[in-house]
Amino acid sequence: PQTPPDTPTDSAIELEGVVKEYVSHGEVVQAVKGVTLDIAEGEFFSLLGPSGCGKTTTMRMIAGFEEPSKGVIRLHGRDVTDVPPNKRDVNMVFQSYALFPHMSVWDNVAFGLKQKKTPQDEIKRRVEEMLAIVDLTGREKRRPREMSGGQQQRVALARALVNRPRALLLDEPLGALDLKLRQAMQLELKRIQREVGITFVYVTHDQNEALTMSDRIAVMKDGLIEQLAPPREIYERPATTFVAGFIGTSNLLSGTATGGVLKLGGGRVLVPGREGEVAVTVRPEKITLTTQEPASDVSALPGTVSEVVYLGTYNSYAVKLADGAEITVFEQNAHDATVTAERGDSVWLSWQAQHSYVMGS
Ligand code: ATP
Repeated sequence: PQTPPDTPTDSAIELEGVVKEYVSHGEVVQAVKGVTLDIAEGEFFSLLGPSGCGKTTTMRMIAGFEEPSKGVIRLHGRDVTDVPPNKRDVNMVFQSYALFPHMSVWDNVAFGLKQKKTPQDEIKRRVEEMLAIVDLTGREKRRPREMSGGQQQRVALARALVNRPRALLLDEPLGALDLKLRQAMQLELKRIQREVGITFVYVTHDQNEALTMSDRIAVMKDGLIEQLAPPREIYERPATTFVAGFIGTSNLLSGTATGGVLKLGGGRVLVPGREGEVAVTVRPEKITLTTQEPASDVSALPGTVSEVVYLGTYNSYAVKLADGAEITVFEQNAHDATVTAERGDSVWLSWQAQHSYVMGS
């Protein structure tokens, strides 16, 4: 019998003030320094951050492989802080897949159900259904080594999902795949998540992966969450300079603003309503590159083109400002393949005031 929920809630996973300390060579290391978050039922939630920021440790505490040093973890409203992994209604998928090499695809997927003594006809029905969802119908008899990395990952996914956990935890599950397969699997994972409708918690250090798949992203740094928001907000309105730099190109500009204007190297950055020290980010695709001086109602900076790279759907320019800072500009190749400027040309960069995004420290 299941313990009644402590509080009625639509939360799938809640962390409250969670800290994890390790003792390493006689010294206390805080891998996670106080994480509070609330993941909704059915959400695709990503933990994103550089190596060593505490993503995996956070995930392992949710799974129950590690016990928090402080704080509370709730799954579907139930306090599970002291509950072992096999008594939690979650399953974990690892980068290494951890498939049984000597077993067929079918037996790998059916394994958990057989262990639970599930009736034969139900096993058959559920394994068939899962293999269809991960698009592996017809490959039941194969062994893992006879399959591609992407196919093996699908088997691992089917094996975790066939047990019908209420939440699935995925730790860099696509890390071993090459870029093209990785991108295909990102969309595939998203489709599968939508189809089965369960909560996914996804650990990655790949910002594009997190942006592509997630409903919300928690960006972590040094054991803490820097920002927790939907992908668009993380990209368009980064809370800190760290988030701006980690997700895409930050084009960081900083200085002292007077009367809502930051004067820089013979130009101006409009920061309406701001005074004093500011750090501003402007994304490459928001900037227009011209050879003529722009109108007075936009941010405008003069510079010299130091690099032009043709990237098919767009051109990427590196532009050096008078103070030595380098700004990246993307220009759409909508109609023809001509470039506005060449290496060494003097140009102007301009953008609308609303695209100067002012950050905290
Ligand atoms: P990666 O992407 O490299 O896996 P991560 O963000 O998942 O990194 P964690 O694996 O959670 O980071 O590690 C966070 C910090 O805690 C690191 O500094 C790591 O060295 C430390 N750490 C993790 N596990 C242990 C352990 N068992 N003993 C001591 N320190 C640990």
